[in-house]
Amino acid sequence: MSATSTERQAMAAAAAELVRREVVPHLQEWEDAGEIPRSLHATAGALGLLGLAFPEEVGGAGGDLLDSVAVQEAMFGAGASSGLMAGLFTSGIALPHIAASGDVHLVDRFVRPTLAGEKIGALAITEPGGGSDVARITTRAELDGEHYVVNGTKTYITSGVRADFVTVAVRTGGPGHGGISLLVVEKGTPGFGVDRTLRKMGWHCSDTAELSFVDARVPVAHLVGAEGSGFGQIADQFVVERIALAVHGYGIAARSLDLAAAYVRERRAFGRPLIENQTVQHTLVEMRRQVEVARTYTREVAARHAAGDFVVAEACLAKQTAVDCAAHVCDRAVQLFGGAGYMHGTEVERHYRDARILPIGGGADEVLRDLTAMLMGYAS
Ligand SMILES: Cc1cc2nc3c(=O)[nH]c(=O)nc-3n(C[C@H](O)[C@H](O)[C@H](O)COP(=O)(O)OP(=O)(O)OC[C@H]3O[C@@H](n4cnc5c(N)ncnc54)[C@H](O)[C@@H]3O)c2cc1C
Repeated sequence: MSATSTERQAMAAAAAELVRREVVPHLQEWEDAGEIPRSLHATAGALGLLGLAFPEEVGGAGGDLLDSVAVQEAMFGAGASSGLMAGLFTSGIALPHIAASGDVHLVDRFVRPTLAGEKIGALAITEPGGGSDVARITTRAELDGEHYVVNGTKTYITSGVRADFVTVAVRTGGPGHGGISLLVVEKGTPGFGVDRTLRKMGWHCSDTAELSFVDARVPVAHLVGAEGSGFGQIADQFVVERIALAVHGYGIAARSLDLAAAYVRERRAFGRPLIENQTVQHTLVEMRRQVEVARTYTREVAARHAAGDFVVAEACLAKQTAVDCAAHVCDRAVQLFGGAGYMHGTEVERHYRDARILPIGGGADEVLRDLTAMLMGYAS
C-alpha cells in the first residue's frame, strides 16, 4: 500500500538529508575509488530506503513505486549521482524476482539482509556475446543431483565487484526464452568469481564487473521460481527498472538545471550576468520544459503501475522521454558553465557523462522502440 503523502514527504526529506550529509562530501572520493562503501548500504537500510517498495512479508516497508520515485527524486535533487543511485539501489534489480517467488528460504537468506543493508546483490543477464537479445543468452546450468553446474560469462554487471550474491540468468533448457531460468549464486562458490573490474565513461562510483562461472556448483534450492520461467520474471521486473532509469534521467537533468540556473546568475560576461541574455533565459526555459514533461509523464506511468495497470509500453515511453531530456539538459548545463563545465570534478560534468548510459542500460532505445511498436500495434 502506498504511503500517505505526509509519510512520503518525510521519507523523501530524510533521504535528501542523507545525501547532503553522508554522500555529497564523499562522492568525488568514491568516484575516484570506483565504488561506494558498504556502510552506506547499512545507513540506507536502517533508514528504510532500500526496502521502501518491497512488501513487509519480505522485510520491506510495504510501500509502492510512487514512494520510491519520490525518494529517488529527492536524492537526485540533493546531489546524488546516477552512478551512486545505481550502486546503492542495485537491490532494486537483484531482489524483486526472489521476493516475488515467495520462497521463504531464499527470502530469508538474500532479500531480508540486503534490504537491511547487510548484503549486496547484483543482477547478471548481459553476456559478452550480447545484452539486448536476452532470449539468446548462453550461460549454461546443467542439473547434477542436488546442484546446477554453471558455465559461462556475464559482463557489465552493476555492483558485481562487491556483490555477496548474484541473481543470474542461465540456460537450463533449450534455445529461446523458454529455456531460461534464474539462479542465485553466492560469492565464495568455487568456480564463480570476478574476472575483471570494468572502467567506464561515467557511473564511476558504481562498480561494474565481468563475472565468470567455471563448473560452479549451485544448489537447486537457489533456483528462483520454476525452471524455464526466467525470461518472464525478467520481463515483469523490467517495467520498474525502466521507470527507475527514467527518474535517473530527469533527476540528473533537474539537478543540472538548478546548478546552471544558479551559475548564470553569478557568472558575468560582456559586463553583465549571463542570465541577462535572452538566449540564456530561453535555454533555461527549454531545459525546464523537458524536465517538467519527463517528470510529469513518468510519475503518471508510475501511478498507473502502482494501481495495477499494464504499462510496459508506457514505461518504455517514459524512459525514452527522460533519457532524451537528460541528454539535452545535461549537455546545455555543461555549455552554460563554459570551461568550468568541462572540468573534472564539476558536478554538471559528471551528470553529462552519467547520462550517456541511460539510452543503453535497461534496454537500448532501439529495442524499447521495437517493443513499444509491437505492444501498440504498429509492428508489421
Ligand atoms: C554501466 C553499465 C551497467 C550495466 N549493468 C548491468 C547489470 O547490472 N546487469 C546486466 O545484466 N546488464 C547490465 N548492463 C548491460 C546492459 O543492459 C546492456 O549493455 C544493454 O542491454 C545492451 O546490450 P549490449 O551492450 O550487449 O548491446 P548489443 O545488444 O550488442 O546492442 C548494441 C547496440 O545495437 C543497437 N541495437 C541492438 N538491438 C537492436 C535492434 N533490434 N534494432 C536496432 N538496433 C539495435 C543498440 O543501439 C545497442 O545499443 C550494464 C551496462 C552498462 C554499460
